[in-house]
Order: sequence, then C-alpha cells, then structure tokens
Amino acid sequence: MKLKFRITQGNYIMDLQTLALHAGYKKDSQGTMAVPIYQTTAYEFRDMEHAADLFALKELGNIYTRLNNPTTDIFEKRFTTLEGGEAALATASGMSAIFFAIVNAAEAGDNIICAQQLYGGSLTLSGHTLKRFGIEARFFNVHNPKEIENLVDEKTKAIFFESLTNPSIDVADIEAITKIANKHNILTIVDNTVATPILCRPFEFRADITVHSASKYTTGQGLAIGGIIVERKNLIEKLKGNPRYDHFNTPDASYHGLVYTDTGLPPFTLRGRLSLLRDLGAVVSPFNSWLFIQGMETLSLRMKEHSKNALMLAEFLESHPKVKKVNYPGLKSNKNFKNAQKYFTDDLCSGLLSFEVKNLEEAQKIVNATKLYSLVVNIGDSKSIITHPASTTHQQLSHEELVACGVPEGLIRISCGLESAKDLIEDLKQALEA
Ligand code: PLP
Repeated sequence: MKLKFRITQGNYIMDLQTLALHAGYKKDSQGTMAVPIYQTTAYEFRDMEHAADLFALKELGNIYTRLNNPTTDIFEKRFTTLEGGEAALATASGMSAIFFAIVNAAEAGDNIICAQQLYGGSLTLSGHTLKRFGIEARFFNVHNPKEIENLVDEKTKAIFFESLTNPSIDVADIEAITKIANKHNILTIVDNTVATPILCRPFEFRADITVHSASKYTTGQGLAIGGIIVERKNLIEKLKGNPRYDHFNTPDASYHGLVYTDTGLPPFTLRGRLSLLRDLGAVVSPFNSWLFIQGMETLSLRMKEHSKNALMLAEFLESHPKVKKVNYPGLKSNKNFKNAQKYFTDDLCSGLLSFEVKNLEEAQKIVNATKLYSLVVNIGDSKSIITHPASTTHQQLSHEELVACGVPEGLIRISCGLESAKDLIEDLKQALEA
C-alpha cells in the first residue's frame, strides 16, 4: 500500500514537506522569519490571579521553562503535525522521552512488553533500570507479534517497539502489534526515530504514542540531544474509564486532585508535562528546540537522500564476496521488504543499514580502514557514520542477548550520510579490500 502523506490544516491540504517549514509558527509582531529562541528560565505573571489561573489550568500559558517554553512549544506543535498526532512533549533526550512514555503508563508492580530488537539504551532501560523501579519488561520477537498474546496480563501497561529497529534494521508489523494491543486495551509506544514521520506514520496504523530521539534525523547534523513524545488524536477514548490506567481516571493528589481524562486536554501529554516533567525535570533547552526546528525544515529532503544513498550502498555490499549478509529493508532479498513496502512511503527506508562479515577481527579491520566514515556512536547525521555495535552501543549485553536482539559480533552498522553515493561506495570498497 502506498501512503499519501497529506494533512489537512485549516482549509488547505499540504504535504509534509510544506508543513515541516511552517506548522506551529505564527510570525510574531516583528514579522520574524526565523523562529525566535526564547532563552529564558521563567515568565512574568500579569498579577496574582493570572498566576493562580495558570497553575489551575483555567488559562494555559507559560510558567517556568521546566514546564513549557514558546520555542519548545513550536517544536512540539510542528512535530505533532508531521506525526499526525494531537499533542507532544519535548524532553532532554530520546532516552528521557522513552522513560517518560513508559512511566506515564506503568508503575511499580506493572509490566511492559518490549520487542527484543531495540536500541541498546532502550534494552538496558527496560531490562535493567526499570526493574529497579519495579516495572518488569517481557520480550517478544518483532518478527512474531503473536508472542505478545502469551505475555499479556492485567498488569500489562504498554507494548513498546521500534518501527525501524536500530541496529538490527527490522521493520515491525505495526498493524499486527496494534491489533493485539487494542484487543486488550493496552497502549502501544512506538520509537519512530529511525524512520521519522516523513517515512512512517505509526498513528495511521493505530499506534497510540510515538517517541523519538530528536538527536538523530530531526537535528540532522548531529548538533544536539533531545527527544519528543507524541500522543495520537483522541487517545482519551482509550484512556477514559480504562481500568488499566486508573492514574488517568482518578484524582492526582500531587496536582490538587486533577483527573487527567476530565480536563478536555490530551491526557497523556498533560500528565507527562504536569507530573513527570515537573518532578523529574528532564526538559529540553530552548536552544536545542530551536536547532530541531531548523533541522525539521529540511527533514523531508534529507530523508529522501539518506534513503537513496543507503539503497545504493546496500546493493553494492550485497554484491561483495566478503559480505555475509546485508540488512536493509529496501533490498528485495531482505526479510523486511514486504513490511517496508507497506509501512514506508515511496519505498524509502531511511539511512540505516548494517552488514555482517566473518567475525569480530574482520569487522575491526574494515571499520579501521574506512576514511570517509566517522567511527561514531550516532545515527542520522549528514556525515556518514560507521559503528561496531557489539563493542560499543551493545557492549553491556551478553552473547545471548546480542544474538536475541540481532547483533552478531561481525555486524557493522552504517548511518548513511548525504555525501555522494559514489564516494561512499568507493571508500567502503577499499576498506573491504584493504
Ligand atoms: N531510540 C533510538 C532508536 C536510538 O537510536 C537512540 C539513540 O541512538 C535513542 C532512542 C536514544 O536517544 P538519545 O541519544 O537522544 O537519548
């Protein structure tokens, strides 16, 4: 199925490419073309009544930058528009976005169901850190969503997976997963970092929440760390009266008895802001929000180029005798090809690919011999990056855990940048043959 990424805003039908440049910003009284950076800690109240009204949510407005900020607000609105959601909450990093999204759903004594194929930080968070908070993580193979059925119980509060997994480069069958989640009335949280809203929009496949590391393709040039949580439209329908989510339906003693589903505001984002961001404080800086806004202006163009380069590189690698296996969903030979056709727009599969060589030593030799690729643990930069996940991002995992999440020791990951594909191929060729 091909998706038409068109969104109605006001009376206009606009492409994502257009909205990425305009959504969420109305020029200020100075006619400022670039979004201003509101670099401030706090905001003056008109008078005491105004201050009290803001705290009581009788009027919405700025209080303190840990809770909200006008530049961050534009970033949140613009990202919400691209993702096709209702509201968003920006955070200090992708990891804090994931943590907040999970603990907004679950508490001590609960469990979450996670894909085995996750970013290394998400695996350690769910398998180790959350355990210390009393939240159990149960794992399913992203290639077999039916496993979820055996893991669900009345304490299950979220199903968490990546649309395009890092670093195993698998494409989740989003609809198969959300179907099971909806049958049990459980929230789905999708990490859409690698695909970005330009290539994949999980809400169109009935996901509830998306999370992103804005540190990747959103900034696009490796400039800043940040994250964002997006809530789908009408999530209130799923939360209201749902016995799994009492904390959204009963008075919050920490916010003078507020019942989040009674406010008329997007409840997941509201609770994330008023309770979690207030108390845990992992807020994004206004300057970083501004950088993310700059990045979003070119996101659509960049994702097309990243994807085209990655496909050419994957095709080259597939033909090379030293390469055992190439993981890129845009390749017809790849087991994720069908899912990529269904879930990604225009057959574009983002810039992340990996390939497997004989063993760790061979991988080390190749990585060290590249000249154009930077040995960096990041993805989504305009400059190409090479990584050896087993010795870096996934170093904390045991051999069994590495195998389970699809990271063999001879695996090399590439985040394909915006250099010419010809140069990228040449450099990898000489490294493979060095
Ligand atoms: N999600 C994915 C898919 C990632 O690749 C990463 C980081 O690499 C994160 C989340 C964490 O993001 P951050 O580094 O912004 O905390």
